Amino acid sequence: NKSSKELTLVKQEQLILGTFGSISAYSNSEKEGNEAISKAYDRIKEIENLMSTSIEGSDVYNMNKKAGVESIAVNPSTMEVLLEGLEYSSITKEAFNIGLGSLIELWGIGKDWQKVPTSEEIADAKKHIDLNKLEVSKENNTAFIKDPKILVDLGGIAKGYAVDESIRILKENGIKSGVVNLGGDVYALGTKTDGSKWRIGINNPEIGSSNSIARISISDKSVVTSGDYERYFIENGVRYHHIIDPKTGIPANNGLVSVTIVSDKSIDGDVLSTASFILGLDEGLKLIESRPGVEGLLITKDRQVYVSSGLKDAVEILDNNFKIVN
Ligand code: ADP
Repeated sequence: NKSSKELTLVKQEQLILGTFGSISAYSNSEKEGNEAISKAYDRIKEIENLMSTSIEGSDVYNMNKKAGVESIAVNPSTMEVLLEGLEYSSITKEAFNIGLGSLIELWGIGKDWQKVPTSEEIADAKKHIDLNKLEVSKENNTAFIKDPKILVDLGGIAKGYAVDESIRILKENGIKSGVVNLGGDVYALGTKTDGSKWRIGINNPEIGSSNSIARISISDKSVVTSGDYERYFIENGVRYHHIIDPKTGIPANNGLVSVTIVSDKSIDGDVLSTASFILGLDEGLKLIESRPGVEGLLITKDRQVYVSSGLKDAVEILDNNFKIVN
């Protein structure tokens, strides 16, 4: 084994899981590094083929197709994500809901058919998001949506799971240091070769800005951000984004523009960033503080930054228009 200073940095980028993926790893050789990264991407592709709503034959596609008809067999990985998703629904007071597909489809954010639905359409879709109608059996690895109009959508959780899985694969293949980034769901493995922590930038949430407003120093942690600036459309001068509040059926609008979660697992960060974004500043911070090992950074419309108690020392503000206020 080479000393850490002699390691080679290998990087591969790919469009995957409907987003931009980037994996970098320090490795003994370019060949070893590339092999490990390719295996990690293979696993991410596998997860996409199981959990995409749109890929024909995926577990989620099959569940939705057989909604109201019959139970289907699902892969153990899909089962794992479904169970986590269901558990998080109660932890987040149902702000996070994996059965929100009917509303997500209706808004179609990022799709050809995106539009502001009528209030009747929203009211109707909201009748079909009840997770009590989703029956899963861990023993048999089967899932059944009992209401034919409920659609499962794992868009708020599968990417985090994929980050965790890709890190597992990298480690299994001898990588001790590197960074996985799937469209803003980041995991920083180990440390940099000089032993210092990785520094992960937090995007400026304002449309048209591309700078980092802060950076967070971490090692062996995930950093996930959900923001209203990531995917949206504008109709009649109003911007509609992709994080839907199940209570109202419309995109969350409570003064927050971005929530970043730092946690040991990216699946937790993926869910908790979306859920806190929906719950708003006070409830969101409360949720973050209540979860062991979970920290967060929340940004409001008026450029105020709130940082959870255990994260303060790791955050450095880079853009002085933004201020930590708590
Ligand atoms: P991104 O995928 O852009 O990183 P998030 O991680 O915040 O963003 O997840 C947003 C995605 O999660 C949406 O595109 C949608 O598929 C799904 N989603 C939206 N609202 C909710 C919600 N309240 N509960 C669960 N999933 C949601």
